Amino acid sequence: MPVFYDTHAHLSDPGFVSDLPEVIARARAAGITRIFCVATDLTSSKRCLELAEEHADLYAVVGWHPSDAADAPADLRPALLDLARHPKVAALGETGLDYYRRPSTRSGFSEADDIPYKQKQVELFHQHLEVAAELGLSCVIHQRDALEETLAQLEPFAHRVRGVFHCFANDAAALRRVLGLGSIVSFTGILTFKNGQNIRDVVAETPLGQFMLETDSPYLAPIPYRGQRCEPAHLIETARVAAEVKGCSLEALSAATCRTADGFFLQNRLPT
Ligand SMILES: [Zn+2]
Ligand SMILES: [Zn+2]
Repeated sequence: MPVFYDTHAHLSDPGFVSDLPEVIARARAAGITRIFCVATDLTSSKRCLELAEEHADLYAVVGWHPSDAADAPADLRPALLDLARHPKVAALGETGLDYYRRPSTRSGFSEADDIPYKQKQVELFHQHLEVAAELGLSCVIHQRDALEETLAQLEPFAHRVRGVFHCFANDAAALRRVLGLGSIVSFTGILTFKNGQNIRDVVAETPLGQFMLETDSPYLAPIPYRGQRCEPAHLIETARVAAEVKGCSLEALSAATCRTADGFFLQNRLPT
């Protein structure tokens, strides 16, 4: 059976509290041999580390999500440095910029309110990049409605810090710019959606070796689970469509995506 990694799952999400052991067991039975548990704040960072300590095939990605930036401490670097000393921390994140839900999109707020909101995200992203550069870690990057600013922030760190633009949903021109900075992308279950042709087109353009697969559990369940809680076992549905789009066997996709993830997450930290 071809094996895959789920390179982005929020197993610390409250949606998994009641049945996490079963979720992990189903992932293993489906051939998911590594799961990267991605945090969104310090509490979930610690939870992801606990899970990684409990399970040999789970790893932690520690950091603070840009959408929650307002709640982050002014300087996250000491906490990141402290957490990242743990040998099962595989990367920092998820970090980046998300301008989609900016204050001015809600009633009672103006565009003036967007300025400090964006500024805090930029500062937090920059702190992740600084710590990643210092420790030789990669960064899991979340980007929505902020491509130019995200690339501008990453550029001074390019070729020192590798990013993965997770849940990649931009076009082929954006893809080339990401790859040009030495970063890579990863694709979610959106790839399987009927209206996901734009994503399939970008997958077709992405060389094997420059992308990974993820579920972003509990979000974005692939067809035929769309609308349900997503879990790592569902990754195989995304892999099937990716193999079809790439015109390769599941075995070849397995080998390429696992090797890419080993290089991205573990090269500086753990023997693979
Ligand atoms: Zn994200
Ligand atoms: Zn995520």
